[in-house]
Order: sequence, then structure tokens, then C-alpha cells
Amino acid sequence: MEKKYIAAFDQGTTSSRAILFDAHGRAVASGQKEFKQYYPKPGWVEHDPKDLLGSLLESWNAALRAGGIRAEEVAAIGIANQRETVVVWDRFTGKPVYNAIVWQCRRTSAFCEYLKAERAQFIYERTGLPADAYFSASKIKWILDNVPFARSRAEKGELLFGTVDTYLVWKLTGGRVHATDYTNASRTMLFNIHTLEWDGELCALFGVPMRMLPEVRPSGGDFGEASSELLGAKIPICAAVGDQQGALFGQRCVNEGDVKNTYGTGCFLLMNTGRRAVRSENGLVTTLAASLSKPDYVLEGSVFVGGAVVQWLRDEMGLISSAAESEKLALSVPDTGGVCFVPAFVGLGAPYWDSDCRGMIYGITRGTGRAHIVRAALESVALQTFDVVHAMEQDLRANISRLCADGGASANAFLMQFQADVLGVPVERPAITETTALGAAFLAGLACGFYKDLDSVAQSAAVPTVFEPKADDAARAEKLSAWERALDRVLLRKNG
Ligand code: ADP
Repeated sequence: MEKKYIAAFDQGTTSSRAILFDAHGRAVASGQKEFKQYYPKPGWVEHDPKDLLGSLLESWNAALRAGGIRAEEVAAIGIANQRETVVVWDRFTGKPVYNAIVWQCRRTSAFCEYLKAERAQFIYERTGLPADAYFSASKIKWILDNVPFARSRAEKGELLFGTVDTYLVWKLTGGRVHATDYTNASRTMLFNIHTLEWDGELCALFGVPMRMLPEVRPSGGDFGEASSELLGAKIPICAAVGDQQGALFGQRCVNEGDVKNTYGTGCFLLMNTGRRAVRSENGLVTTLAASLSKPDYVLEGSVFVGGAVVQWLRDEMGLISSAAESEKLALSVPDTGGVCFVPAFVGLGAPYWDSDCRGMIYGITRGTGRAHIVRAALESVALQTFDVVHAMEQDLRANISRLCADGGASANAFLMQFQADVLGVPVERPAITETTALGAAFLAGLACGFYKDLDSVAQSAAVPTVFEPKADDAARAEKLSAWERALDRVLLRKNG
């Protein structure tokens, strides 16, 4: 049967999605299924690995049904996944020995505090990561330390470790392939991003037997063949990629200096730095990009509260009835009337790293109305993004020429225009904002020859909306200095 589609499996933190893309890179059908979150203790977050696969298969069937498409018509699958989340399973039965420990889970933070004090430099030099509970290594250690007989079984070679991509590939191929890609490996804190190999000393530090670890491959390439029992046809898996790097690739940010920002609950900024592993002096993470061969390097920074500030205005303050209404309200006033909003609800991330400071709405007068506050909240998303971009530019010692935007809040045209104004460069929003899935589909389609090259398929896939900067230099400088003054009032850890 003629192969007409590429399937992207996007296994996220709260839901799984399957999207089918045609030969022009257009999304033609999709399915989505949420799954249960487990919070066994305060700060702990788990998923049942059965649900990860199950919700994905439901999404796959829903997408086929929605598009009237047969499984045999799909040329290849690309998997994009929530990063850092850990699964450990029995290599003989395929049964996980414990639930998946999710990236958000803080159960290993005490151990990581010790690491921060003693081994931060060593870990950063090899992995590009800060010694934090967010990454996989301490979560694997926790399972091996706490599940009866897990460590001795792992040492005997009976248990396998994987990030979510690895677990899905293993399941889909009926246990024939135990592999991951460079982007996922680079988030485990066990992988040396300079030599591109698992690091024996890091594995020893975390007590992780190296025989548990998957083989590491380029993101686009051969990950075996998914079985027909699960998918209805034998389909090659031709990509695996961490979600944020997937979005970077989906945005075609494949050249040095290209940056994308995903405006979701938080914001994830990733900049391609080419062959250079840039050492950050501004609290950014160094990690690996998706590719079909040797990977490029990436600088990554995140903003904790992005679109979430809009949710807060809606759900806690009742100032708006929908997220979309924030745009209309912001545009109903000419400016914020001097109001500055610093949404440091959980402290501030890069480049400030102050976890103890808290939020503030500053500059309120008798004339302040809800539109001013809503406008200031949206501006804060762009201003925090500006700070991360600025940190990247300092680390790279070069300025960016455009910012690629995606994620739920990128639908907000006021936010996009204001972002272009404060950055002083164009902001581009593609027609398909499902860039994570698109990235996985591009990688799989290129790897199997379904797509010939990235440029031709991406151009036919999406005509972006471009927001050109309009503000003059004086207005921009004034906005930025007001933001800096507000931050000064909020930050507890100066130059932290
Ligand atoms: P996530 O993947 O983190 O769940 P999404 O990419 O789905 O996030 O984006 C959801 C976020 O975007 C929410 O925080 C929501 O408040 C925000 N959002 C959605 N639409 C808009 C809009 N039109 N204007 C501003 N924010 C929006």
C-alpha cells in the first residue's frame, strides 16, 4: 500500500497525542488522550507506565479513525516525549518495577542538595546540567535504593532503564530495541555531552549499573519496527526526541543562533549554538540538539510562570473569563499606566535563580484598572523571555536575529507584538504551533526518505505570521528599565 503519512507520537506530561502528517508536512488528523497523575506525597509526581503506552495507542487509533487512514499507509513513526522522566523495568517480563518518576518530582532534592554542595562543578562539566532533582539520575538511584532487590537485579542485568522514549520504543518493538537518542540522553545527568558517551564516573556517583543503560543514537534514525499487534501494521520507528528539542527542530532552528520559545504554562527557550558547547555564565543549561547525525549543542533556559500568569488572572483573580480575553483587554488601554507585574509565584528561574523571592504587582494608582493589570501580566511573560534571551546573547557573545514562537500563549497577538518590541527583532509564529510533533515527524520523515529536505517540507507546511518590532529605542529602553527596577524590588538573592 502507498505510504502517504508520517505519524508523530507526542507523549507529554499530562496527555498523549498522535498526529498524522502528509507529504507536505501538513497535519491531517490527530487524537489525544489525557492520563492520570499520581501524587503519592507532597512534591512527588508519578505516572503509571501502562497509561503512557495505553493513552498513546488510544490516540493513535483515534487519529486513524479521524482521518479515515489505514495503519499500512503510514511510512514511519517519530516519538517526542516528556523529558527526564524515568522508567525501570524487567527485561524478561517487560514489567516496570515502579511507577515512572516524573521530571517534576522533587523526592530526590535532599540528595541533590548534597551534590550541589560537593559535586556541582564535576557534574556541570560533563553533562552541562546543574545538580538538580529535575534530571533523571537521582530518580533512577531512588528506585534502585527503594524497590526491594532492584539494585542487585540491576547489577545482574535483569533490569533496564529508560526515559519515556526508550520505554515506548522497547514496548512498541516487542522488547527488541533498547535505545534512546542524544537529546534524551543529555537530560539524564549520566551522559557526557562532550564525548557523547555514558559516563562511568557519573554512573558510579549515582550507583547506576551501566548495563541498565540504553544504546544512544541520533534523534532521526533507526529505532526498530513497531509490531503490528499494537499498531495494526508493522511500521518503522525512525525518530525519538525530547519534546523541547523536538520543537526546536520543528521550528527549523537548525543553525547557530536560532532560538525558539514555547509559551506554555512556563516558557522554554532553546538556542542552537552549533558545534560549540557554550558554557553559561548566566545560569543556562547546556544540552544536545536533535539531528540525523552528530548533534549540535543547545543553550536552554526556562521561565517558571509564563501562560500560567494568565490562568491565575482567570482562576484566582477572576479578572478575565478566558485566556483569549486577555488580548482584548490588554489592547483596550494604551499602556499599563505604570503598572509592573513580576509573577515570581515560585521564585524566578534563569537567569536569576532566586527560589525564595515572590511575586509583586507594582505601581498601582487610583486610576489602575483590570485592563492595566492584565496588560502588565502579559508584558511580564515577554519581559522574562527577554531576560533569558539576553542571557543567551551574553553567553554566545552574539545577538539573535529573530525569535520563533509556539505554545498555547503564542496565540496571543498582543503578547507576540510586545515580545518583538522589547527584543527589537521579529517574532515568527508558524501556522502549525504543534511544533513538538512536527519536529518528531520531520526527523522521522527525513530519516526514512519520506521527506527530501527540511526546507522544502517546512515551507509548504507553514507560512509563519511575522511580528515585526515597532517600538522606538527610547520606549523600549524605558520599558526595560522599569522592569529592572521592579525586579530589584523583588529579588532577594542579588546576582544569584
Ligand atoms: P502546556 O503545554 O504547558 O500545558 P500550552 O502550550 O497548552 O501549555 O499553553 C497553555 C497556556 O497558555 C496556559 O497557561 C494558558 O493560560 C495560556 N494561554 C492559552 N491561550 C492564551 C491566550 N490567547 N493568551 C494568553 N495566554 C494563553
